[in-house]
Amino acid sequence: MALIVQKYGGSSVADAESIKRVAKRIVDTRRAGHDVVVAVSAMGDTTDELLDLAGQVAPIPAPRELDMLLSSGERISMALLAMAIHSMGFEARSFTGSQAGMITTADHGSARIVDVTPIRLREALDEGAIVIVAGFQGFNRDTRDITTLGRGGSDTTAVALAAALEADVCEIYSDVDGIFTADPRVVPKARKLGTVSSEEMLELAANGAKVLYIRAVEYARRHGVLIHARSTFSPNVGTYVLGPGMTRPDGEGEVMEEPIVAGVATDLGQAKITVVGVPDVPGKAAEIFKVVAKSGANVDMIVQNVSAAATARTDISFTLPKTDAATALRALSGDQDEIGFESLIHDDQIGKLSVVGAGMRTHSGVSATLFEALSIAGINIEMISTSEIRISVVVRGDDLAEAARVVHRAYGLDGDADAVVHAGTGR
Ligand code: ASP
Ligand code: MG
Repeated sequence: MALIVQKYGGSSVADAESIKRVAKRIVDTRRAGHDVVVAVSAMGDTTDELLDLAGQVAPIPAPRELDMLLSSGERISMALLAMAIHSMGFEARSFTGSQAGMITTADHGSARIVDVTPIRLREALDEGAIVIVAGFQGFNRDTRDITTLGRGGSDTTAVALAAALEADVCEIYSDVDGIFTADPRVVPKARKLGTVSSEEMLELAANGAKVLYIRAVEYARRHGVLIHARSTFSPNVGTYVLGPGMTRPDGEGEVMEEPIVAGVATDLGQAKITVVGVPDVPGKAAEIFKVVAKSGANVDMIVQNVSAAATARTDISFTLPKTDAATALRALSGDQDEIGFESLIHDDQIGKLSVVGAGMRTHSGVSATLFEALSIAGINIEMISTSEIRISVVVRGDDLAEAARVVHRAYGLDGDADAVVHAGTGR
């Protein structure tokens, strides 16, 4: 008998039928003899609808009240799920984040979990009940207010519960079968991975893969939680995300050697800003990125050219989320005279492709394969950056899908058949 934490995303509990299907799945797990704790998201697009509603009554909704509002979405799904389980003859009890002991920082809309005190959950489990917890929400001890963890936060709720209760596994259910070698909507020949290391998963998530939230993967890695990402709509085994020293519980598909490349991630959410004609003297990069950081922008890649001998000036390009670009540009323009650059170029038609694999550490020639595949396809590379286990390139946004397909093939990742994707938002 194991203790299993299961998380169901919004698409898995979108309507009454879906809630009943999830209830059945939970009951089946219980019938198999396991203790079950469930973290559930709000039904379907509820959170978006609530956000929209808030925007209609106030241009900038008060953060405390917004969390009050958004946290109600998960209260609806948790209570309905518990009712559905009841009607199947099993004992189930739902708990809000604060009842479940999810203690967070006071930052409304982006609170971080600082402690989990699941006393009531343990009691309920001891009494034989199935436990349902509202995802995405918590409670701050100082302000005594309800908080939310940021969009997609239910993954983190599930992992934090699994850590606090020392669960055997944290199953994250969505409408896709697991983690794929690429987004199957972009690369039809993408394959489902049996396992992926948590460090690879972090790089994939940070570079555009959307199936698991980065904070949840980080939390799992830090606390030694085994994640199993799988589909609500099929009984198939999904993908195990293995932290250091972990192995698959079913012992299957033991990897003898790490694959060189685990997957290819794509991201169309970035823009590029080029600061043209920067005086090539010490301190200019510091000035530029201090201004950009102060604007709140999250800079990703940075490239600086060698300066032209004649002018002693250089260009510095960097990428950042599209949504941060306008503010960063305004901030830089404001300090143009002080910094002394000539002009700014804004380009939001870029795409970022990243190749991720732990085996890169020990294999050479990995980047050459990438560059060659792109060159044969006639795709121009505009920026390059690397980490220990990742190579990223910026290309034209229009070229991104084609780039992903040729690179996927070049690393031998293509499957035999097109991937079957259920609905496919990954939530
Ligand atoms: N309902 C929240 C959201 O849509 C939390 C979640 O789904 O994980 O962001
Ligand atoms: Mg949701």
